[in-house]
Amino acid sequence: MIRDRNDLDKVTTATLMVRVLPVSARVKHAAKVLGIVWGVAVACVFIPVFHFVLVPLGILVGGVFAFHSFALRLGVNEGEVVCPRCSARLRIEPREFNWPLRLVCKSCHGDLTLQLTN
Ligand SMILES: [Zn+2]
Repeated sequence: MIRDRNDLDKVTTATLMVRVLPVSARVKHAAKVLGIVWGVAVACVFIPVFHFVLVPLGILVGGVFAFHSFALRLGVNEGEVVCPRCSARLRIEPREFNWPLRLVCKSCHGDLTLQLTN
C-alpha cells in the first residue's frame, strides 16, 4: 500500500520483490560503512587543532552509521510504484530498507510511505 503522508485518503498498491538480507550481508555492509567513516576520521588526524574534535566524532558517527546499516533487514532489487497523488510512475532503485519504506515523488515531491499489507 502506497500512501501520501500529506493526503492520507489517496492510496495505491504495488507489488515488489523483497528479499530478507542474511546476517552475513548485513555485517559486510555495516563493516564497509564503518571502514569508510573511520577512514575519514583517521585522515582528520592530520588537520591541526580540529583533529581533537573530528577524530572522536568520526569514531562515534562511524559506530552509529554502522549500527543503522546493520539494522536494515530487507532489500529490494528494483521496482516501480505509482504515486497516489499525481499518478506518476516511480522507479525504486536497489536498496536496503525496513518497513515502512519512505519515498519522495520526483514529479510532485509528495512524501510517500510504502507499507506492507496482508
Ligand atoms: Zn507524485
